[in-house]
Amino acid sequence: MVLDYIVVGLGLSGLSFVEELENHNKSYMVYEDSSQKSSRVAGGLYNPIILKRFTMAWQASEQIETAVSFYKNVETKLKKTLVSELPILRRFNAVEEQNNWFEACDKPVLGKFLSSELIRNTNPALDIPFHYGKVKHTGKINIGNMLSAYAKNLKENNTLNNESFEYDKIIIEEDCIQYKDIKCKHIVFSEGFGIKKNPFFNELPLYGNKGEYIIIKSKELKLQEAIKSSIFIIPLGDDLYKVGATYNNQDTSPEITSIAREELQKKLEKFLKAPYEVVDQVAGIRPTVRDRRPLIGTHNKYANMHILNGMGSRGILLAPTMAKVLYNHIEKGISLDKEIDCNRYSNL
Ligand SMILES: Cc1cc2nc3c(=O)[nH]c(=O)nc-3n(C[C@H](O)[C@H](O)[C@H](O)COP(=O)(O)OP(=O)(O)OC[C@H]3O[C@@H](n4cnc5c(N)ncnc54)[C@H](O)[C@@H]3O)c2cc1C
Repeated sequence: MVLDYIVVGLGLSGLSFVEELENHNKSYMVYEDSSQKSSRVAGGLYNPIILKRFTMAWQASEQIETAVSFYKNVETKLKKTLVSELPILRRFNAVEEQNNWFEACDKPVLGKFLSSELIRNTNPALDIPFHYGKVKHTGKINIGNMLSAYAKNLKENNTLNNESFEYDKIIIEEDCIQYKDIKCKHIVFSEGFGIKKNPFFNELPLYGNKGEYIIIKSKELKLQEAIKSSIFIIPLGDDLYKVGATYNNQDTSPEITSIAREELQKKLEKFLKAPYEVVDQVAGIRPTVRDRRPLIGTHNKYANMHILNGMGSRGILLAPTMAKVLYNHIEKGISLDKEIDCNRYSNL
């Protein structure tokens, strides 16, 4: 079989790249082995603001437009509701934080996303001694449903292989790559933290940052918005809420832990005053880079081998833009910003 592309990994990065291929009528085969869960367990929030410091995340105001229209297109294609608007309320811990919020509201780009109207809590299930600040133009993507429906479509079109990609079966030829019975022009690796097993790119400084959520049920909470305190509470419907997440760069095991559950419950009980039960828990490894920028580009020895990774804790906003940038780099020769080029770490 002769193809334009092989794509390894169908998380947010892989899916975004496959959409580029679809839009340009390229032929491809995707490999996905469910070894990583970062995209599947993500909170699903898109939010351009760093809510600790009230600053804009890197290039987020540009990325949000690309991302929302990207997910709406996928939604239309899959005939599923995947995107919902969801305001985020930032709980203030002190008057100083309220003042900092007002200062941020006056800044030109931030002002578009931060409401200057303080919001008083009226929910008796929550202890909110100060006010909330509201972030505008935020929302939620149902990533789990999106990935499942997308994979089903690919499977029906015979473009998805649910196998582990075997790196030692690659034969690199001058202008193509041979993998088992496939000859392709390019291969794009988008394996998230799975990159650690990839001998072509595993020396890049990508490290894992494990995140865990607990899922709680609380009849009395009745939240319509996402709340951000030291942790997020994200409404899922049917009295269910995602609570988290943790950040741990020491443990890269895929399993859920009781330490994370206890940490999250302790933080939650500081401001949730209604009864609740923990009904589930999930864990995933964020593919995080030392300098907190994505890792995009072409292998410095093999011109047909590319990487789309390093989305860290912001894959929803980053992946659609980064997939486009990588596609244009490969197909149109458009050079990459040094900031994101994987060759900024030249000792591959
Ligand atoms: C707890 C948690 C909460 C988060 N919340 C948010 C959020 O609210 N908003 C946000 O924007 N981001 C969030 N993130 C971050 C976001 O999930 C990541 O940025 C994003 O998932 C990275 O996507 P990816 O496709 O690059 O990697 P992954 O999601 O890890 O996907 C890689 C895929 O490659 C597959 N794979 C790997 N190796 C192989 C192989 N050899 N063969 C075949 N397949 C392979 C894996 O099975 C996996 O499906 C969160 C992350 C975590 C862990």
